[in-house]
Amino acid sequence: MKRSKINYVVIVLLISAFGTCFISCTKEDEVFSEESNSVEDQTSYLLKDQGVKDAIECMGFQSKNVWVFANHYVVEDDIVVTKETVAANDCGKQTAVASNLTITIGNSANISYFIHPSVVAMNNGANWETAIRTAAADWTGIANSTINLQEVFNENAAELIIYGDNSAAAPATHRNLPANVWARASFPANGNVGNVMSINDVPPSNALTQNGRISILRHELGHCLGFHHSHIGDSSTTTILCNTNLNDPTSVMIASFNGAGTLNINANDQRAARALYPAFGNQFPTLSVTSGNYDRRRGTKGIHVTMTNDNGMDWHRIQIQRVDSNGTPYGNSIEQCAPLQGQALHRQFTSNFSRVRITFINHGEDAMSITTIYNNL
Ligand SMILES: [Zn+2]
Repeated sequence: MKRSKINYVVIVLLISAFGTCFISCTKEDEVFSEESNSVEDQTSYLLKDQGVKDAIECMGFQSKNVWVFANHYVVEDDIVVTKETVAANDCGKQTAVASNLTITIGNSANISYFIHPSVVAMNNGANWETAIRTAAADWTGIANSTINLQEVFNENAAELIIYGDNSAAAPATHRNLPANVWARASFPANGNVGNVMSINDVPPSNALTQNGRISILRHELGHCLGFHHSHIGDSSTTTILCNTNLNDPTSVMIASFNGAGTLNINANDQRAARALYPAFGNQFPTLSVTSGNYDRRRGTKGIHVTMTNDNGMDWHRIQIQRVDSNGTPYGNSIEQCAPLQGQALHRQFTSNFSRVRITFINHGEDAMSITTIYNNL
């Protein structure tokens, strides 16, 4: 994640106070200066290929300042995506706070991570180690989501390895991060968690509070889980998860963080986590379902659905279908963003009907759904 401008002031103050010398922060929109580029120029170059840029934009990322490595692209400073993933992307629905580049449900329920010894060797290494565990527990603790991150102590048994960026063991994409990037994380690939994260060990990370470290790690783990930056993009061209906010300044997935204060996994982040990684129990919501009278002249009949209790689960889509006496759907269906608790939905079918089947759909547009039939309408 990128250091924000506010931190630039802190850096300048630190330089003047302690005479510390390091690569300066650059302008918000030109994240990588010539100087910072030199850190990576042995292994990477700036993407020029318009076709690849289009594919990256299509995935919901910004296409400026994309760095090309042997098998990866680095986008938006702190996100690493495999070339294979970009090449295979079908430009399906993408979102600001989530994407269809997700972990499979089965894999999300058992994610093993390993804290590499290079983290412990960092400045404040023990504090970073604690912060990783706290951030992982926070994602794991989201109610009614399958996300489950568990630490393992054998590197070979880990799906996700977290390094200090000075480590020679870290992949080139995650080594020697530019000074204006706190940390960097890989996006999921092939249905598995993003497999690498690295933490920048240059000052002013020394000046971070423990809440600052935890905030950064919550954010980077969010990328490993497939969550995009929350406030980058244009709502007219970006499809976001229903009931989340494209421009959410308190989301843990904001792109810039000045290191002060705390970024929590907020209500939108939790909603996105439940929509992408739902843990199903008996969470079919409590609904009030009624119908209007059949309008013979227009040939229409209204259906009214109110979400009276979400039972602790968030939903991406609602689908309403007319069904016959066997419960078999017929005709067109209504599908849209699911209502939130307390919200009502009023729509019409162009025929008389007495039964509907209501389905709630999560995991993007995928098949994770739950259905109930309502009779006598
Ligand atoms: Zn980020």
